[in-house]
Amino acid sequence: MKFSDYRINEDIKFNLEQLGFKKPTDIQYKSIPAILRGEDVLAIAQTGTGKTAAFAIPIIHKIHSDKSSKRTDFIKCIVMVPTHELALQVNEVFEKIAEKTRVKTLCIFGGVEQDAQIKSLYKGIDIVIATPGRMFDLQHQGALDLSKIEILVLDEADHMLDLGFIKDIRDMQRFLPKNRQTLFFSATINEHIKKLAYSLVNNAIRIQISPKDPVSKNVQHAVAFIEMDDKRFFLERILKEHADKKVLVFVRTKVRAERVANAMSRAEIKTLTMHSDKEHKERLQVLEAFKKGKTKVLIATDINARGIDIPNVDFVVNYDLPDVAENYVHRVGRTGRGDQKGQAISFCSTEEKPTLKTIETFLTKPIHVIDIEKEDYLETVEFANDTILKEDLQSLLKEAEALEQKLKKKKKK
Ligand code: AMP
Repeated sequence: MKFSDYRINEDIKFNLEQLGFKKPTDIQYKSIPAILRGEDVLAIAQTGTGKTAAFAIPIIHKIHSDKSSKRTDFIKCIVMVPTHELALQVNEVFEKIAEKTRVKTLCIFGGVEQDAQIKSLYKGIDIVIATPGRMFDLQHQGALDLSKIEILVLDEADHMLDLGFIKDIRDMQRFLPKNRQTLFFSATINEHIKKLAYSLVNNAIRIQISPKDPVSKNVQHAVAFIEMDDKRFFLERILKEHADKKVLVFVRTKVRAERVANAMSRAEIKTLTMHSDKEHKERLQVLEAFKKGKTKVLIATDINARGIDIPNVDFVVNYDLPDVAENYVHRVGRTGRGDQKGQAISFCSTEEKPTLKTIETFLTKPIHVIDIEKEDYLETVEFANDTILKEDLQSLLKEAEALEQKLKKKKKK
């Protein structure tokens, strides 16, 4: 079935065409009809499956075609998301799908002045995409009225729990009308999430995407056994061999992110870094530069593993294996999004072998191993050592020349 066969507004169909969305993805195929019928939905789907459009398309259609209500006099839908970045990204999808329709959306999150957000709210907004903190601030101040919400969406509910928003979500229910539609999206499911979900939804349709294999079918992923001290040489090799490709490199800590970036810079490879030490504004700038392809390599810690939509990432490199097995899925899910194909490779040192086992247990199957021939391994390390030695020699010569010049100048004086 194609989007052109759906009974949805023509403007929305046109916008989907512009986005290059022809056929619905699995999650879209399963959720759109249920959401259009007004049912509650409890969906287990990872990022990269097209889950944002799975709720954005029917919500926009419903609000756009509801002629009974005076459009701009109340907020009809609230989409709660765990992070600023995800809020911006979800809002972008809503804006693109709602273009030229009557539906108005607004994105609100903390860390920025609230006045502009309040002003926009007064102009009349249909859909608010919000992080919990700022949403509650505005609600307590009376600037955000949740009492007439018709649809509540919780996106990445599991991440919301990880970040400690459970009490906020429970409290929020007091301010929402009982008679509403609730759409609950989570990448994983456990007892806590189930409990929260069932306190929010009513007779929900349950949708689960690829429960047995949490890694998308579009991602070819493998592991290579590389010792800790040799990892940078292999990364250098991959980046040099795929200079035209967009690569996302995951490391364990922010210190390592900067260290790997420095090592790559010595090998004349331009990279960007993204971790929790970076200010929110700087993080957005980095993300934008990477999205536009100005710099093709981004080295990140797990803050970036979830939710964020970076289009056209060709490669994910797990420079370090993630400590939390679930993050493996989020990391490799940064490639092979929508209907594209992607590749992921993990570097696993001897010390990391137990972590690899845990990840494989989580995935319920082994990860394909790339056998590196001994000769190839040594060649990669030696070649890189060679370049570094040459570079060191060059920079030493330059330093010596500069010192000589200085001394000559001093003598003349
Ligand atoms: P999401 O899981 O919502 O983060 O979406 C992942 C990616 O899939 C995004 O880059 C979307 O643009 C893309 N996408 C979503 N739906 C479709 C579709 N029906 N056809 C092709 N690409 C899609």
